Amino acid sequence: MASARLLLRLLFGAALTAAGGACTPTPDLSPSVQPQSGDAPLRLAALTDLDQRVARVAWRLSEANADLCPTVRLSAGWALHSARQYSLELRPHAEARFGLRGDLPGVLVAPPGSPAAAAGFRVGDLLLAVDGVALSPGEPGGAAAWEGLAANIAVVDAALARGSARFAVQREGGPVDLVIRPRRACGYEVQLDPSDELNARADGRRLFISTALAGFAQSDDELAVILGHELAHHVLGHRPWNDTGGAARRVNEGAWRADGGRGGAEQQADRVGLYLSARAGYDPAAAAPFWRRFGASNWRVRYPQVGHASAGARAAALEAVEREIEAKRSAGGDLLP
Ligand SMILES: [Zn+2]
Repeated sequence: MASARLLLRLLFGAALTAAGGACTPTPDLSPSVQPQSGDAPLRLAALTDLDQRVARVAWRLSEANADLCPTVRLSAGWALHSARQYSLELRPHAEARFGLRGDLPGVLVAPPGSPAAAAGFRVGDLLLAVDGVALSPGEPGGAAAWEGLAANIAVVDAALARGSARFAVQREGGPVDLVIRPRRACGYEVQLDPSDELNARADGRRLFISTALAGFAQSDDELAVILGHELAHHVLGHRPWNDTGGAARRVNEGAWRADGGRGGAEQQADRVGLYLSARAGYDPAAAAPFWRRFGASNWRVRYPQVGHASAGARAAALEAVEREIEAKRSAGGDLLP
């Protein structure tokens, strides 16, 4: 997840900077997220809050469902970012708020219950070295770039993959040494896409959620409905039709028409996704109201679309899945779809 975190930070910084400079069209940005001069600290706060929230929910889903995921890895559960990945406009605020420096990885979030939190990591910690190997701060200044942070995170992830890693950490008030014992989690990246479109998707290796959709979710339970659905595509091994082209896409659309739009892969992902969410401790009762509210405010999902039932039909189907989950819970059985 760490490398996805840094990528999304860059995407935010880069997209917002381009809009602010008015030299690159940015059709994906809605008026609500168009930068205004002087609001950089507010934008940074909004983006990092959303980022932290997505990372917290993604960690819980990934850990709770590791035994169902086709690929697993040893994870600290944290999200890392760097000063350099931010646009020149946001960077001074990111440095001041999070104690960042150059390409060095800083802790953006150490979710409660994660190995990073158990090791004592806090937001604002800056990683200087792992297992005696110094991480590189890179060159000072320059345009937004994530390659330096990505290289540092590769060193960190390689250390975590060995089962235990000791970090030299710069913290306000003085340096500390912390040891992380990572735990198994789904080997799956979560990326927040800067977009006004209310959507989420998966490409078999990564899970994408737009900033608009993440912001639309009113609670972590609702966010878990969305992320759980996308993780379910991964668990089920679906090659999502919307990420395929040519013949594969035609086959998928044909299959959907033959099915009368009754569900197929999407219905399965809704069902399994709600189980993944419940297994991570989120409330499955959040799903149906979420879909009804989503349908009421987004015409694209109000009626059946290629591959997807209407929001109302999905809500009704999810209520049935919720009852199924509650029955299994009461019976004390395994929460398996
Ligand atoms: Zn889907």
